[in-house]
Amino acid sequence: MTMTNVILPGSTIGVFGSGQLGRMLALAARAMGYRIHTFSPDRDSPTGQVADREISAPYADLDAVRAFVRTVDVVTFEFENVAANVAEIAQASGVPVRPGGWVLHTAQNRRREKEFLAQAGLPVTPFAAVDSLEALRSAVARLGCPAVLKTAAFGYDGKGQVRLHGPDDAPEAWAALGGQPAILETFVPFVCEISVVAARGVDGAFAHFGAIENIHRHHILDLSIAPARVSPAVAARAVELARAVMEKLDVIGVLCVEFFVTKDEVTGDERLLINELAPRPHNSGHLTIDAMMTSQFEQQLRAVCGLPLGDTTQLRPAVMANLLGDLWADGEPNWPAALACGAVKLHLYGKAEARPGRKMGHLTALGETVEEARRTAEAARRALAA
Ligand code: AMP
Repeated sequence: MTMTNVILPGSTIGVFGSGQLGRMLALAARAMGYRIHTFSPDRDSPTGQVADREISAPYADLDAVRAFVRTVDVVTFEFENVAANVAEIAQASGVPVRPGGWVLHTAQNRRREKEFLAQAGLPVTPFAAVDSLEALRSAVARLGCPAVLKTAAFGYDGKGQVRLHGPDDAPEAWAALGGQPAILETFVPFVCEISVVAARGVDGAFAHFGAIENIHRHHILDLSIAPARVSPAVAARAVELARAVMEKLDVIGVLCVEFFVTKDEVTGDERLLINELAPRPHNSGHLTIDAMMTSQFEQQLRAVCGLPLGDTTQLRPAVMANLLGDLWADGEPNWPAALACGAVKLHLYGKAEARPGRKMGHLTALGETVEEARRTAEAARRALAA
């Protein structure tokens, strides 16, 4: 690796989006001597609070985007729903954009994402594109029920999703999504959900954090467990699929692949189906900060700067528990009670308003085993309400 292609410490990282993912990237960047500028419509944002500069402008303000890009040495994203022309502007200014605009374009739309995966021969939940009630009815007839109807764009944490139990549910489901372009997916009776967070460098180097197990509540990630309690063969296959996704999409940066693990009741065969891609660090990878030699955020920084990727060895079994705004319902959570166990690490994102369902922070507990780490994480979270 020559130094000429490397974005060295002292340079400025430009990040579109200003949430917790950008904040944790900014903290990693600052630790390694980089400057960080963030662009989003918000003010006093989780990223802005720890960045060198916070630009508050709509993503559609292309003059502001141009001016921002001139102040940075590389552009990355912490949020994939930024219009692809933002990436084009950065590219046109000669500033490297990592990952490239085509990656955002693919991942910001469930339909494009699923079509890319299917065309690449990667295993994906059976799906059909749906543009009308008639198309939905025929998709239901083809895929069967139960099924899930999801908006093609701007869906996250189960928003823009409705379950169909039978063909009669079609009109109500179609109306519930407001008649927007959508996809219908077979409802997968999974035994568990796992994710692989991986990084790919400018030189094509690949590194991953292994399989992480994810437990959702009300469609929002609740707990992540590392390592996942799946067979070594399933974990290895998930990593290989993540590598294939990153190579076929030519990603430079960090990407997370979320999977459903299914088990054939008769043969006992386990299968993996890709549910979703996120072309950035992911909530399920937050435990890498405390439990792995290199965090997903340092890895993103290294990848987008053209540096060698860091060692991803796991130091201790770990469980991450999300802290949602609901925990603030009766006032400030009891932080000292949760921190009474020294194996618990608290991460708060600096969000002023604690709305129900809003991700305000997370706890990571380390243990001798994942079972012990889970008990510690859940006890600490319960103690917050005490
Ligand atoms: P998503 O926003 O598509 O990742 O969905 C959020 C969560 O809803 C997933 O992590 C699953 O727990 C559940 N879910 C989504 N799609 C399906 C499906 N086709 N079958 C079963 N569960 C699903």
